Amino acid sequence: MKRSELFTKTSKSAPADEVSKNAQLLIRAGYISKEMAGAYNYLPLGLRVIENIKQVVREEMNAIGGQELLMTTLQRREIWEITDRWDSAKVDIWFKTELAAGGEVGLAPTHEEPLTDMLRQHINSYKDLPIYIYQFQTKFRNELRAKSGIMRGREFLMKDMYDFSASREEHEAFYERAAAAYTKVYDRLGIGDITYKTFASGGVFSKYSHEYQTLLDVGEDTIYMNADKSICINEEVFNDEVLADLGAKKSDFTTYTASEVGNIFSLGYKYSEPLGLEFTDKDGNRHYAYMGCYGIGISRLMGVIAEKFADDKGLVWPETITPFKYYLIGLGENGIKKCAEIYEKYSDLFLWDDRTEARAGEKFADAELMGIPHRVVISDKTLTNDQVEITDRKTGQTKLLTLNDFINKLY
Ligand code: ATP
Ligand code: MG
Repeated sequence: MKRSELFTKTSKSAPADEVSKNAQLLIRAGYISKEMAGAYNYLPLGLRVIENIKQVVREEMNAIGGQELLMTTLQRREIWEITDRWDSAKVDIWFKTELAAGGEVGLAPTHEEPLTDMLRQHINSYKDLPIYIYQFQTKFRNELRAKSGIMRGREFLMKDMYDFSASREEHEAFYERAAAAYTKVYDRLGIGDITYKTFASGGVFSKYSHEYQTLLDVGEDTIYMNADKSICINEEVFNDEVLADLGAKKSDFTTYTASEVGNIFSLGYKYSEPLGLEFTDKDGNRHYAYMGCYGIGISRLMGVIAEKFADDKGLVWPETITPFKYYLIGLGENGIKKCAEIYEKYSDLFLWDDRTEARAGEKFADAELMGIPHRVVISDKTLTNDQVEITDRKTGQTKLLTLNDFINKLY
């Protein structure tokens, strides 16, 4: 993409009411704009990051047998009443609205009820199971506090997956596969070494659920990690009973702040029983489907990664999710001509700062603020040796490569 054609502009300051670092930087760099507290617009650069995160997640969910679909966000009152989750006194984050034609609908905070209900049309026999379904969907939650930028939105993007299994054993086998897929996702997103599978409360059907917590100073959660990093426990279940169960003692643990970037949960019959999702086994007996749910906060991940890797010059994107791999700057007549040539061939990889009115210093500052992993400068001077200058955003290290070597290494 040519910078002259990108409608977004960078700025030196963020809105005064924006207190979070992730949103401040993302707004200044032109990735998002703020509509109101807890609601943001994703601009072309920001959308590319979101789509890249989704693609990593999609590949890993497909690899464990996930089928992608997209459900409506509008919710029927009746099915949520069946599970006793409609009443705003019980679920305090609902957004609800009136239909012009009469009646009340909700905006989905999550999708267990409608998905379980819909699957009654598709599951009848043991032969129909197991099924693994996921979507990338907008969730609405009327969060009381929305001060963490895109890490806590009143509207946000989630990947939610659900398994429908014939037995507890079948579900548990999938639970382990999902856990392994989550590890791959966070590894690929560049936060594998700071993201920990954490014991959390489980509900009626399993002792524990698991959260994936990324260490982050401004994270909203507190977790406890033992010395060899093999056990993490969230605040909710960090008590004597759980410690005894895990064969650990309190004094071995250190407190960290973290942000929950995903979770996996055994639901058992919690939804299939009240909503009547049944199947017939080999012998003609009817059973409820055994379920689990698997969430990943897509927009929260973008905020966590922005926040975590940023430095005093701006954003620093990992290669896997950056909107562009290279920020291209031409200096001097020949430098600019060479940039145009390279850009013609590989426009997808480059954000080419072709603006004629911007000075070199502004372009360098923008490349840093936007966090593009590699800044490529081609100038009349580098061209005298047939070279390009490449600067790594993370380390600040610069090296010279011949044009040929550079082109060969592009992908
Ligand atoms: P939290 O404890 O942070 O409120 P949760 O336990 O309510 O999250 P889930 O309902 O399981 O979260 O949602 C799955 C994932 O969606 C979470 O792990 C988190 O990454 C993300 N998420 C939850 N709430 C928000 C929000 N308000 N804004 C952005 N992402 C969110
Ligand atoms: Mg939670």
